[in-house]
Amino acid sequence: MKIMKFGGTSVGRPERMHQVKDLITRGDESKIVVLSALSGTTNSLVSIGEALAAADKFLAKSRIDELHAHYNQFYPQLLKSDVAKEKAQEIIKEHFEFLNILLKISFNEAINRDILAQGELLSTKLFHTLLEELEIPAVFLSAFDFMSIDENAEPELQKISDRLKAILAQHPDDSIFITQGFICKNHLNEVDNLKRGGSDYTASLVAAAIQATSCEIWTDIDGMHNNDPRIVDKTRPIAEMSFDEAAELAYFGAKILHPASIWPAQQFNVPVKLLNTMKPEAQGTLIKADVATVGVKAIAAKDGITAIKIKSSRMLLAYGFLRKVFEIFEKYKTPIDMITTSEVAVSVTIDDLSHLEHILEELGTFCSVEVDRDQTIICIVGNMVSESKGAIQSVIDSLIEYPVRMVSFGGSRHNVSVLVDSKFKKEALQSLNQDLFSW
Ligand code: ASP
Ligand code: MG
Repeated sequence: MKIMKFGGTSVGRPERMHQVKDLITRGDESKIVVLSALSGTTNSLVSIGEALAAADKFLAKSRIDELHAHYNQFYPQLLKSDVAKEKAQEIIKEHFEFLNILLKISFNEAINRDILAQGELLSTKLFHTLLEELEIPAVFLSAFDFMSIDENAEPELQKISDRLKAILAQHPDDSIFITQGFICKNHLNEVDNLKRGGSDYTASLVAAAIQATSCEIWTDIDGMHNNDPRIVDKTRPIAEMSFDEAAELAYFGAKILHPASIWPAQQFNVPVKLLNTMKPEAQGTLIKADVATVGVKAIAAKDGITAIKIKSSRMLLAYGFLRKVFEIFEKYKTPIDMITTSEVAVSVTIDDLSHLEHILEELGTFCSVEVDRDQTIICIVGNMVSESKGAIQSVIDSLIEYPVRMVSFGGSRHNVSVLVDSKFKKEALQSLNQDLFSW
């Protein structure tokens, strides 16, 4: 059994949903199909939640109506028969009635998560209605019946696996299952989610839970590119990469694959394929355990990075200093990305600035701190071990024209990261692209 996950753009138009139908009915391997919300829907639901949080019911209502109108013109293009159209009408009515009821009650975080869940519920129900109309047998699975997270918002893989296997065992003769990405139940049995972009994570967790043969992530580009095609010319899709390389890249290429979605597939050794719904015959990118190719495979960049230089003469020859520093970031649940150290200073980067002020205040009690905003991490990923002589050298050479704020190398054999001011990003990426890949 394999997993096929389709993102928002793959289901965002009626004709695309028909393409998805074609793709899931090819071949005879049974499959669990994981769908995102139609593109734009989750953003719109977020804005409804924000309007309600700001007690602006008027704005919330107008956004609900706008979204409602979108679905009302979506389904008649998706479906042909009156029976199917009536069913779709009912589905849409139910979910928009729910949203409208929320206008009347007092808003809280749990309600907000309920709002966010409507997108995937709508997309999967409408898609299932299409399959019914075409008499394609498929079982509709509610993610709420098996996807769960614990009190730390971590997925409960073992429980997910037990529940899902039990559900599948009830349908021994079925071969197509449809379910929602992103949404789940939390430890209080409330509706929750796996955070924005979390449908990929659902797919990978489901793949791990049933030890699937593969996990296909269908998007609107033909795989992971070796550089950002929006910034650099002449990029190309990477045919094959290892889980480790993909993990390094996913943080940067979050647009194509949610970073958390690597570990479940990796742990259960399920190959992940990144494929293009619009170009199904394209090779895409295959991510698996053992990949023989060496050398630089990809370059990626992440903006919005803040570097913090933490300096203290007490660090010299002391132990426990780094722990003290890291504990502050831990206390404020702020992940650190890059780290570089000298004898008397350590520089770290973060991208979540929500607690920056508190962090700086606490660090300031025992160190001097300097902050550089608007930085970009450029990450060069590949299997560099057998070439380590050349790898770091060619990166440095290529960046000779640009001031580099931090360099991190040796943390893993798959990554060299450099930090530059964001104003140099485009040129730096272009230069690395020219120098590191042979065409
Ligand atoms: N619909 C959710 C989002 O837009 C989850 C996903 O599509 O991955 O974030
Ligand atoms: Mg996505």
